[in-house]
Amino acid sequence: MPYRKNPQLVQLWGARACIQWKCKLALLLAIANCGFILACGPGKTATVDRPKNSPMKLKQSIPSLEETSISASGKYRGKVPRGSEAYKALQPNYNPDIVFKDEKHGDSRRMTKNCKVKLNELARLVKKKWGSEGVKLRVISAYDIDDVNIRRHGKTSLHHEGRAVDLTTSDRDKEKYPILGSMARDAGFNWVLYATKGYIHASVKADDDADYRKAGCFPETAAVHLEGGATKTMKDLQIGDRVASMDSHGKIVYSKVLTFLDIKRNSTNEYITIQTENPAAKLTITESHLIYQLNKQSLRETALFARDLRVGNFVYVRQGSTLEKFTAGRVAAIARSQGKGVYAPLTEEGNIVVDNVLCSCYAVFSDAQVAHYSFAPLRFAEWLFPGIASHNTSGVHWYANLLHNLYATLHYVSGL
Ligand SMILES: [Zn+2]
Repeated sequence: MPYRKNPQLVQLWGARACIQWKCKLALLLAIANCGFILACGPGKTATVDRPKNSPMKLKQSIPSLEETSISASGKYRGKVPRGSEAYKALQPNYNPDIVFKDEKHGDSRRMTKNCKVKLNELARLVKKKWGSEGVKLRVISAYDIDDVNIRRHGKTSLHHEGRAVDLTTSDRDKEKYPILGSMARDAGFNWVLYATKGYIHASVKADDDADYRKAGCFPETAAVHLEGGATKTMKDLQIGDRVASMDSHGKIVYSKVLTFLDIKRNSTNEYITIQTENPAAKLTITESHLIYQLNKQSLRETALFARDLRVGNFVYVRQGSTLEKFTAGRVAAIARSQGKGVYAPLTEEGNIVVDNVLCSCYAVFSDAQVAHYSFAPLRFAEWLFPGIASHNTSGVHWYANLLHNLYATLHYVSGL
């Protein structure tokens, strides 16, 4: 469970220069050692909509929804004209592990940041699977607003925004495409279509939408619990407030809110609502946020994505408003919902009780503790220079962004 501060640690470290050096070292070690990403959302997470590695069928889409639905790649926002600010924000992709079809504007290399991250991940998966045969990922089309291609892409295509790609393998072996589609989903594309026998179409959420999934967690109405039994909503929560969380001995402690990893006050987002019984609680949380599942036999907890929780599982529920202990609450129902605002508070303990249910403060691949260690440098910097970690304006915290971007870079460079 959560990391605990060791007050004696600092006494050993005397000089400020030494502290700064160690702080930097800790950051580097944390980053180098963690194969993590601070993503609530897509990424190379296992998906639950199909067995892993099962080949796609012709005309099949994953997920089986409209491409522009909120649970897939999100709504179409309109054509991005050449020369516009949105166009300048598109990034050319020069990954040597990808073959790009030559085009006069270089459009097949141009895509959103989110699309580029997912495409690079897919290139890595393709290299791993078929690299020994000399086969690479091939991109036929990415950003594309040419009218001549309107028949293939459609009138309201995500290619117009640079967040869709049409893919084959470099050997153009059509036998590989059903697997390629499945791999695209594994790489984190939000919607994949095995459109024709000739190629795979894959798309992602817009960058700002994906950002909210990087750290977004609770709606504004979610309640946190203060010492003495009072509650506050996420909307009113302040940096410095002390909120109920769990210490390393499994007891309730009141842990200081260090910062917000993300805040978006005026957005409406997709959540899931988890209801428990005995005792009853009702938690609203983003689906890719980590929550602790309690194994009643081994009495050990596992951090897992909220979306992977199932009816019949047990979670930690704080019993009553005055009883200062946790009990195992059985998950009785899980439903999709919508909520206003996105709030992701980070506490010293790295976990937080929300709506009486214990949740991690993180949205990572698979390991809440690794995420907690990865934020140790930020907590340490805050301890040295109070206020340095503060972030209560709109958007994702700079440190969460830094870790995310470094991960994406290291992941690509190392070719893991
Ligand atoms: Zn397409």
